[in-house]
Amino acid sequence: MSTPRYDVVVVGAGIVGLATARELRRSGRSVAVVEAEEDVAAHQTGHNSNVIHSGLYYRPGTHKARLAVAGRDETVAFCRAHDLPHRVGGKLVVATEPEELPRLAELARRGVANGVECHELDGAGARRHEPSVRALAALHVPGTGVCDFRLIAEKLAELLVEQGGLLLLGRRVTRLVRRRSDVVVRTDAGDLLAGKVVACAGLHGDELARRRGADLGVRLLPFRGEYAGLRDSAANLVRELIYPVPDPGLPFLGVHATRGVDDHVHVGPNAVLALAREGYDWHTVVPRELAEALLYPGLHRLAVKYWRYGLDEVRGSLSQQVMAARIRRMLPDVRAEDLTPAGAGVRAQAVRPDGSLVDDFLFVEEGPILHVLNAPSPAATAALPIGRDIVARLTGERPAPIPEAASQ
Ligand SMILES: Cc1cc2nc3c(=O)[nH]c(=O)nc-3n(C[C@H](O)[C@H](O)[C@H](O)COP(=O)(O)OP(=O)(O)OC[C@H]3O[C@@H](n4cnc5c(N)ncnc54)[C@H](O)[C@@H]3O)c2cc1C
Repeated sequence: MSTPRYDVVVVGAGIVGLATARELRRSGRSVAVVEAEEDVAAHQTGHNSNVIHSGLYYRPGTHKARLAVAGRDETVAFCRAHDLPHRVGGKLVVATEPEELPRLAELARRGVANGVECHELDGAGARRHEPSVRALAALHVPGTGVCDFRLIAEKLAELLVEQGGLLLLGRRVTRLVRRRSDVVVRTDAGDLLAGKVVACAGLHGDELARRRGADLGVRLLPFRGEYAGLRDSAANLVRELIYPVPDPGLPFLGVHATRGVDDHVHVGPNAVLALAREGYDWHTVVPRELAEALLYPGLHRLAVKYWRYGLDEVRGSLSQQVMAARIRRMLPDVRAEDLTPAGAGVRAQAVRPDGSLVDDFLFVEEGPILHVLNAPSPAATAALPIGRDIVARLTGERPAPIPEAASQ
């Protein structure tokens, strides 16, 4: 039997891989998506805060700023067009300490520079939106929303297959072999041939290159983010989304309170180094992956810089009291007894050997293989325009956005 050949093989059926595959199919290319798990959205896409970010936080001119702003509108339009649950109720970023005020003002400047509607408020103004909040000042961002990224990914997969794309689930890509005219995609269930490959492998994004001996200049480290649910009486303290002012040195937004599309309120996520790439709890340890992370000089340098923050996060992971205390800075009436464990997600964060965290999305082209190497938050929000950007990189053609409302 001859080996099946596709114009493009996409590795990974998270939201980025699926959005990319759909755009490639729309441009007339033959596409196969190969996913190791039995379902789409099994990792980051299915374990996150489900917030449709507005584009407030990101340095103007970065991929994140441009793609989050476009992605917000497209995600809302996609949910509307396909009747998927979503709500745009806005969010509040609250400063609770005087030293946070300049950082809040800087966020407002970034928001304006990125074209994001946001309104500066004093404490009383903040309480008009969220009556239970304690704030010296706040920023209200009306365009932020919530959705269910797993359902969006499932819909993208359905549309891809309807349009003639192939989705191969439960099949792990083990190696990419570059040849003169194509790439052999080796999987645990046989080979495929591809003109080009897009590797959207999330937490494993650097592995396929390293297995080929290529050094892409970064290593992906897994940072777990744990959530807690708020019991009903405390859930009433939250109308929409309440965020702290983030530390500008870190790519994490801080522990926040979010009312989801199912009306449940969750708080989190924290950020602790996971003991495996898919280490959703302290008991999941993959010794090889842990050893690789611990031996990486980038992690040592990161640890020197952020050891205090890191220890604090571990304390927050081990103690409900600590998690509750963090939320109490913004919502003083929350008690530790109001919190119930609510799962976790693991972020794939690219770290350079000098210990610096890659802040922006990172795409690295290695001949016919394009590696998506850093696609942390807000990449779920930004996935639809990221897919178009990748098609433009591969083909030189820039597809127009899909008029979702008309695609019904
Ligand atoms: C705790 C947390 C909170 C977040 N909150 C938000 C938020 O509120 N809003 C937002 O916009 N973003 C958020 N994000 C970020 C968002 O979830 C990710 O940016 C996005 O899901 C990345 O999608 P992806 O397709 O790149 O990765 P993934 O969803 O991780 O998909 C990668 C896929 O590749 C597969 N794979 C890996 N290796 C192989 C292989 N060798 N062969 C075949 N398949 C393979 C995996 O099984 C996986 O399904 C959050 C992330 C986390 C972890």
